[in-house]
Amino acid sequence: STNLNGKIAFINGGSRGIGAAIARRLARDGATVAITYHASAIAAEALVAEIEAGGGKALAVQADAADAVTLTRAIDSVADRFGRLDILVNNAGILRLGPVEEFALEDFDRTVAVNVRSVFVAAQAAARHMGDGGRIINISSTNALRMPFAGGAVYAMSKSALTGLAKGLARDLGPRGITVNNVQPGPIDTDMNPADGAMAPSMHGFMALPRHGRADEVAAMVAYLAGAEAAFVTGADLLIDGGFAA
Ligand code: NDP
Repeated sequence: STNLNGKIAFINGGSRGIGAAIARRLARDGATVAITYHASAIAAEALVAEIEAGGGKALAVQADAADAVTLTRAIDSVADRFGRLDILVNNAGILRLGPVEEFALEDFDRTVAVNVRSVFVAAQAAARHMGDGGRIINISSTNALRMPFAGGAVYAMSKSALTGLAKGLARDLGPRGITVNNVQPGPIDTDMNPADGAMAPSMHGFMALPRHGRADEVAAMVAYLAGAEAAFVTGADLLIDGGFAA
């Protein structure tokens, strides 16, 4: 485990799947964890109750990642309540698929708003409250490198955008001792991409490790990046994809 005792973490999109696993892991490692949710109020409150039952500290705030004002207010309120912020995890993401001929601009705009714009908005808000040792960790995707199926152009674009964003933010925030990195998971068993879904066999067909990953495997990489040992890692894309892009 990583020692995150006394750290304050904010997870943009933490009610289900990978974000919930990250919340559990950071709380287990000692951090106080604030999660946001959009639709899943019940799941978010259940997660907070689970973490607190296990002796951890957690709270949930409703904030649509696409709403910059609400997201910024949520970050400010958590930072004000605890006096600062140490770790920001941008996990909120949506997967809208469709052939280019039919892809609605509304879906393009929503994808960019949640998967890209919210990362910038949250980083901007969080950086105001962070000091030396601050951590910004974005959940990108192996699809930033490789999109082996039709219909995923906009999703792949949204994730590859995070590569440039993290590199640039790392330059802006490095002088203040804040690191910015992307984690790029391959297929992870969640509501978004169930291990028994229709696409699973074809994905496993070209992976070096032919299985879905677990959300807690991704959370372990996030915990590493959040900890003191990762102080020299910044502007990086870290793959955790079972060889999907190998
Ligand atoms: P899920 O669909 O299972 O969960 C998505 C989470 O993001 C939920 O907690 C959801 O909250 C939250 N979220 C979505 N939209 C918003 C929004 N507008 N505002 C706030 N929160 C929001 O997805 P995963 O756990 O699988 O994915 C998490 C991240 O990992 C995403 O960025 C995804 O792109 C990325 N990823 C996933 C992979 C996979 O195979 N599963 C592979 C590679 C990357 P709520 O329910 O409250 O809306």
